Amino acid sequence: MQVEVVVRRKIVRRGVTRAVVASPYFWLLVGCVLTVVAMLGYPYLPEKRLQLVNDDADAYIYADPKNSVEWLDMEALRWRCQIRDSHGEAFCGFNIVLGEDNSQGVDFSQYDRLNLDLSYSGASRSLRYYLRNREPGFSERDDPETHKFNQTQISVEFLPEGLSIGLDEFYVAEWWLSGFSVPRAISGPSFDHVTSFGIDLAYPAASGEHIAQLHGAELVGDWVSRDSWYAGIIISWVVVLTLFGSYRLYDLRQRVLLERRRAEKVAERNRELRQESQQYRELSEHDQLTGLLNRHGITREIEKFFALPENTIALLVIDIDHFKSVNDTHGHDIGDRILRQMGEVLSDSVRQSDRLARWGGEEFVLLLPESDGGVAQMVAEKLRQRVADTRFEALPEHSVTISIGVGVRQSGEDYHALFRRVDTALYRAKDGGRNRVELSVEG
Ligand code: GH3
Ligand code: MG
Ligand code: MG
Repeated sequence: MQVEVVVRRKIVRRGVTRAVVASPYFWLLVGCVLTVVAMLGYPYLPEKRLQLVNDDADAYIYADPKNSVEWLDMEALRWRCQIRDSHGEAFCGFNIVLGEDNSQGVDFSQYDRLNLDLSYSGASRSLRYYLRNREPGFSERDDPETHKFNQTQISVEFLPEGLSIGLDEFYVAEWWLSGFSVPRAISGPSFDHVTSFGIDLAYPAASGEHIAQLHGAELVGDWVSRDSWYAGIIISWVVVLTLFGSYRLYDLRQRVLLERRRAEKVAERNRELRQESQQYRELSEHDQLTGLLNRHGITREIEKFFALPENTIALLVIDIDHFKSVNDTHGHDIGDRILRQMGEVLSDSVRQSDRLARWGGEEFVLLLPESDGGVAQMVAEKLRQRVADTRFEALPEHSVTISIGVGVRQSGEDYHALFRRVDTALYRAKDGGRNRVELSVEG
């Protein structure tokens, strides 16, 4: 018992879960949550990094002729500048060539920052950092001086905590712009073909000893820009909503088609059923042997005619004479064939508005609407005569006759009372010798 309840609860819970998962609102909610997560999660996306300092780095150091520079440890990228003569032109620094050769360079434009791990001791208060960028169509391939000089100068006090320089902090050196009469279109900073990265003493170089070591340099950037990330979210929504809308439309159309097909099937089945019931009704209201209405079939007509008390109507009860002896002498089949032909003779002799039925056995009834005793008696006489004159094919040598009881409905008289009277008249006809018509005495 306990187990059964638990199992049922589990089944119900599973059903509810399935209904929730199938609901578009559930997926809408999931989409909203994912969108919020994607928007808030942008800063936590992994960054892409490019190491500029590695074992193969093509590094060199330089100084003006009046001063000197030397490697203290070339492997560890540790160098020393000795500025003895701090004249206007004094310079000393370090440089790494990037890319396969000068013509190609490295594309920095997909990065945001340059992170440097640099130690320095000396009299300079700031150092200069630069990125030389080859400008296609302007820079000379083999002349590094023609490569754009993007630079920035930063106080050495920030070095101990690690230096992160945004690429947007770089600007194009004035001496380079004026030295090469650079077109305006390329006069701004650019980093798409960076051919070298360098560090040197800021101008004017301070006298004395300067020792620097570059432990590491890497470019850091986002895999996807913030704009692209948000555009991606919007495009995803548009795609998902379009797909969902199309699916819903398709699904709706399929359902409508299915419903229409189902409705057509139901209508078709209804038509068949109506036809079938019509057939059964016909069968149930008609006599199979003669095709005339049977007792059940004429009952509806009787009820209709007798519904109003003042309707005048005549009733004939027709009975074949000595039919038992026909059957007994010639067999049931002959009897059936005579019954069938009798039906034809009788129905051929009545009007459209009259109602003829096989009441049972060898007995027929005929309803004559709007007919008085005279008319009814005349019709009965005509029928009797016609049957007596008919040559029955099943028994050509034998004459078949009928006896008929006739009655006219009295005002307000019901069918049973009238039938009893007509039946009595029929007995009288039989008693009177058969092959005759007897009119019921009223009352
Ligand atoms: P009467 O002149 O007094 O009416 O005599 P009858 O022999 O016609 O009357 P009775 O009621 O004694 O017999 C009716 C016979 O009708 C009995 C039966 O053999 C025959 N009969 C009734 N229904 C059918 C039928 O469907 N087919 C055939 N072949 N005979 C039937
Ligand atoms: Mg009879
Ligand atoms: Mg009879």
